[in-house]
Amino acid sequence: MINGDYSNSSNNEFFETHNPATGELLAKVAKATKEDVNRAVEAARAAFETGKWAKTAHTKRARILNKIAAIMRDRFDELVEVEVLDTGKTVAAAQGQINQAIEDFEFYAGTIATFGGDTNPMPNKFFNYTLKEPVGVCAQIIPWNYPLMMAAWKVAPALAAGCTVILKPASNTPLTAYILADICLDAGVPPGVVNVITGSGAKIGPYLTEHAGVDKVAFTGETETGKDIMARASQTLKRLTLELGGKSPNLVFDDCDIEGAVVGSLYGIFYNTGQSCEARSRLFVHENIYDEFLEKFIEKAKKLKVGDPFNKETHMGALISKDHEKVVDSYVKLAVEEGGEILYGGKRPEDLGQEFENGHWYMPTIIGNVTNDMKIAQEEVFGPVVVVMKFSDEKEVLKQANDSIFGLGSAIWTKDFGKAHRVAAGLRAGVVMINNPISAFPGTPFGGYKQSGFGRELSAETLDLYTETKSVVSYIGERPINLFGI
Ligand code: NAD
Repeated sequence: MINGDYSNSSNNEFFETHNPATGELLAKVAKATKEDVNRAVEAARAAFETGKWAKTAHTKRARILNKIAAIMRDRFDELVEVEVLDTGKTVAAAQGQINQAIEDFEFYAGTIATFGGDTNPMPNKFFNYTLKEPVGVCAQIIPWNYPLMMAAWKVAPALAAGCTVILKPASNTPLTAYILADICLDAGVPPGVVNVITGSGAKIGPYLTEHAGVDKVAFTGETETGKDIMARASQTLKRLTLELGGKSPNLVFDDCDIEGAVVGSLYGIFYNTGQSCEARSRLFVHENIYDEFLEKFIEKAKKLKVGDPFNKETHMGALISKDHEKVVDSYVKLAVEEGGEILYGGKRPEDLGQEFENGHWYMPTIIGNVTNDMKIAQEEVFGPVVVVMKFSDEKEVLKQANDSIFGLGSAIWTKDFGKAHRVAAGLRAGVVMINNPISAFPGTPFGGYKQSGFGRELSAETLDLYTETKSVVSYIGERPINLFGI
């Protein structure tokens, strides 16, 4: 969708998107070329330069963002259905994520109403104020694990700030981005402000992130892709937000509420079939409760229902693709080669029924006998695989938790107030969850330390990343000052 119109790609090529749960074909989608990228950037550039969005009053922009949210609510069931079909995730997960996407638009509608510059202390007769101006044309590249939610995390603050957008969804999950663009138009966002291009990230992604017509790239995806984007974007010094991978630690202390920590830790790793950037995939359990905790953890994991994503009682849906299923399985095999022991799962579930035979599936998988230096404890699997390790002391576990190239999520389970906040302060991670497995709400900053990226989304400070600060320095004496004195 470029400049408010749907079109085929310049060479009329398409790619297919399938239902990961069944393997069936869902849609053929335009496969954009470099020429299409140029058209999208030109449309976004023109929409920015004319000021038809950037100069729209902030109150009107807020009203339109609220309208987007309202239309999303009207089309809620359709958005949920398409998201479940395109991702294979459970209907319960999709409902929660689409609710959050809606609230993101409402949050930024509220936030933009009070967002602005400052006045600053100055010497006598000088007067300084700052303006917050939109950064410009934003390429927003999103992954397949939370398609609509990730789009909302990016499009909502960009629109609030007055930017224009080229949204590039992942090839596995292109559908809801188009519906969102439709909704934006219906809500009154002018054509050309939100453009969507679909196609191979490897082919058009580099071209888009190098494009001289793009002022900012906001990317969510793998750390390796993020490094490539950062190098390319550096050529024209584009502004950057990078939300990348993780290997988040989950620390269970011996004074925790064990039942609560068990179910919270299960959710922390197996929600969204483990395909979460902040999945708590390294589980550290205190030696005093290790056996009891693990027994309960495995017992509850056995109760997780894997299968039909549209069944409201299903806990874990499909993996995104056959290739990804192979990657997950190869990590489990690697763990075993490294000396790990499969305590539960480690294979495709049986008896899912004929309808799901061609889908991509994996059981919740728990691996013991692991040390933090093993590859299975250091590399992101991005699937339903957790490694369990034993610890005896707070300082030691903090050191191990921080021993990772990543720093995205982290979780602490304890009833000791002091310990909870001491450990929270010591964790090198963008998000710390205490006695709770949920990492993100509209309003809370989300983002990484270290190689999990930089920049924060979902919060008021995100608006700073979609604006430039202009400092206006003026002299208010009766005549301009004569500093040379001549
Ligand atoms: P990915 O890096 O393969 O792809 C992400 C997007 O980038 C897709 O739209 C893809 O088409 C595009 N792309 C691929 N190569 C590109 C290139 N060279 N230049 C520009 N664009 C390119 O990631 P994925 O497999 O879709 O998503 C999974 C990853 O996303 C995981 O590593 C996960 O941790 C991460 N993730 C991070 C967050 C976060 O907030 N930190 C949230 C969700 C997912």
